[in-house]
Amino acid sequence: MTKEEERQKTENWGLLGHEWAVEMLKQHITHDSVRHAYLFSGPPGLGRRTLALRLAQALNCPQPVAPGEPCRTCKTCQQIERMQYPDLAVIQAEKEGGTLKVEQIRTIRQSLVLKPYQGSYRVALFLRFQEANANAANALLKTLEEAPSYVVLVLTADTPEQLLPTIVSRCEVLRLRPLPVEKVEGYLKEHGADQSNARLLSHISGGRPGYALRLMQDKDTLDFRASRLEDLQKLLPSTRRGRFAYAEKLTDRKTEAKERLRETLLLWLSFWRDVLLCRAGAQTPLANVDCTQAIEALAGRLSLAEARRLVAAVERALDQLERNVNPRLLVEVLLLDWPHG
Ligand SMILES: [Zn+2]
Repeated sequence: MTKEEERQKTENWGLLGHEWAVEMLKQHITHDSVRHAYLFSGPPGLGRRTLALRLAQALNCPQPVAPGEPCRTCKTCQQIERMQYPDLAVIQAEKEGGTLKVEQIRTIRQSLVLKPYQGSYRVALFLRFQEANANAANALLKTLEEAPSYVVLVLTADTPEQLLPTIVSRCEVLRLRPLPVEKVEGYLKEHGADQSNARLLSHISGGRPGYALRLMQDKDTLDFRASRLEDLQKLLPSTRRGRFAYAEKLTDRKTEAKERLRETLLLWLSFWRDVLLCRAGAQTPLANVDCTQAIEALAGRLSLAEARRLVAAVERALDQLERNVNPRLLVEVLLLDWPHG
């Protein structure tokens, strides 16, 4: 590898976007002001975990190419990338939408008292911490208070508001933002997408490269999206009874786990956001470019206040889902509120 290639590969920690976050973390490392705990927040598929792993590399790489710049090729960097490094612990619910349990925190708390085996820091990475139950969250709080100086805790979550304020206040919070759509488009092309597919998927992803790549590689995710957006459009001319029947089908526990329902609500949210953007005359590109006709038609007959209300209603439903409100009830309330025709 030439020096220039090497530089490009390690620049911005080899990460797509989030330059400000990388810059800030690098400053912490080079100025010897690494925090005890970080929280990286943002929607899934944005690069939260990747950023956390690169931070772990930057903290522990024995041969950095520049101060705060991990080489990403040495044994340590590669082990961290694969999440198989003795001084890195990854704690998460058994599956997305599952529950992170108190025993998991207790186990890790015991191991954190040990000095690092190899590197300078022990890094404990708590993924999707919004999935932690109350006991687990309280156990983490204790860990945050008593962690030794060679321990760095990194949490990821969709939003800081989902976590206990007492946890958030002990973390340096980095709110990651979606990337420009063009950047994600280029990324997909590098991964073999053709022009039109790259354009569609980057828009759908709302600037989340990981999610965009998943859409590209996993036809089920894309089919799921298409069917849920189709459902939404079919529900509008549907009767009250039809909507109730759909709510029942959608929240039948056997076929629809909480995580699937959350994904459905997120898709509907992106649709109604598009309607609102279109109604408001915003120049921002639509997320659901393949539904432009339906979105424009709705924007044409709804008032700005109505469009706002519809977006807020889905946001509320998502919030209620996290708070364990009865799923069927919250979907019924949501659907009955949608416009007719
Ligand atoms: Zn390295």
